[in-house]
Amino acid sequence: MKKIKRILFYYHSLSILKKFLLAPLFGIILVLPFYNFIFLSMLDMKHSVNSVNSELIPLYEVSCDNILLLENIVSEIDSAVSSKEIEWIETSNRHAEKIRKNLNNHPNSNYKEDIQESIIAFDNYYETIEKVSKKIIKSNHFYHDIENDTKTLIQDYNKISMLLKNLKSKTKDDIEKNIDSIYKNTNFVLLKGTYIFFIWFFTSTLIIYLVYKDIKYRIKRIVEDSKEIARGDVDFEKRLCIVSYDELGQIVRSLNIFINKLHKKHEELLEAKKELDTLYITDRLTNVYNRVKIDEIIDIACKKKETFSVILIDIDHFKLVNDTHGHLIGDSILKEFATILKDAARDTDFIGRWGGEEFIVVCTQTSKEDAISLAEHLRTKIQDFDFTKVGKKTASFGVAVSRENDDAESIIDNADKALYRAKNGGRNGSVQDSVSASSNS
Ligand code: GH3
Ligand code: MG
Ligand code: MG
Repeated sequence: MKKIKRILFYYHSLSILKKFLLAPLFGIILVLPFYNFIFLSMLDMKHSVNSVNSELIPLYEVSCDNILLLENIVSEIDSAVSSKEIEWIETSNRHAEKIRKNLNNHPNSNYKEDIQESIIAFDNYYETIEKVSKKIIKSNHFYHDIENDTKTLIQDYNKISMLLKNLKSKTKDDIEKNIDSIYKNTNFVLLKGTYIFFIWFFTSTLIIYLVYKDIKYRIKRIVEDSKEIARGDVDFEKRLCIVSYDELGQIVRSLNIFINKLHKKHEELLEAKKELDTLYITDRLTNVYNRVKIDEIIDIACKKKETFSVILIDIDHFKLVNDTHGHLIGDSILKEFATILKDAARDTDFIGRWGGEEFIVVCTQTSKEDAISLAEHLRTKIQDFDFTKVGKKTASFGVAVSRENDDAESIIDNADKALYRAKNGGRNGSVQDSVSASSNS
């Protein structure tokens, strides 16, 4: 299993072009052992053809010629003996010499022993014929024992003839064997050659087909993944699937790196947007909502047609703080003031800075009584607090409760009027718009 995984890893790491080169390579590897057989058979054929051409056929022909020459010698001896002539010795010697020379032309052949045996037989013949010729010369052509001696000679000839015929039949058999072997080898080479071609062809085609299918499948996956990423909403969590380690894999990895970077940039932008959104609705000094957000909250509350209240708060004699302690201390008082409001407010209350030293609390789902009680609660908290370097400070509260057909402008106006009345009423008090007011002076 591990091996298969490793092979697949190597395969996926190869470049696309090299993957296609696998086809002929595997074909050749598969075909190589068969080719070895073919090569050996062809070598064998070459050897057989060489042996037939350079040795067997010449030897066979020489054997045929020699047998013919021998037959000539024997017939010449026969006729010479019957006519009692002496010249035949010379003629037969010439023939015999020719045969011997023919045999000597093949000193290194595989039939060395047979040739050697024939040459020895010729040597015997020379001895005999020398004796015969000496006897003839001595007897001055009245040689009477010629018939017996020629018999010995003919025996020698027969022996040579037998050896030559033997050589002829051996070479003939060997020629036939070699031709048979060449024929068989030719068939073998043709058959195996065809096998080799088909094995190579099918293996290469199969591998090319598999590589093609694999690449096609991976391209399809990349296309599908990229289509899915491009479709619908931007989803930065999605990545292209890494299908391999070749060029396609490289493209996918680069695209994923690009998506990662986009993702990071997108998150940075979201973070910046969040910050901007917060800045857009936040008062920088006091960190409570600014007028933009408060307007929006009141608008929403009006549209909901639910009862809600607005408390407008103005710090009493704040100008005096600035004049006495300077603007910086004035700023720190504003911050502390906002913190008191935030700490004392409920979850359903929205605190904002309405402008200058004026604050606002929008109390959603809050009745008239609850709003006044909250205003009083806040007023007491402020009254009791020791502001840095300034000490005690108070504030006036104008409370307005929403009525039907109220909009942001009208309810703020009502709260402002109530605040005005609270100021006029001596400050440090909570006043409800036109209908009721409660004060603690
Ligand atoms: P009262 O409301 O009781 O009538 O008196 P007041 O002195 O608070 O009234 P006024 O509205 O005349 O003064 C408000 C002062 O608030 C004037 C301005 O200098 C000061 N102010 C407004 N915004 C800021 C601010 O952001 N920082 C500081 N330090 N002072 C501010
Ligand atoms: Mg004011
Ligand atoms: Mg004031």
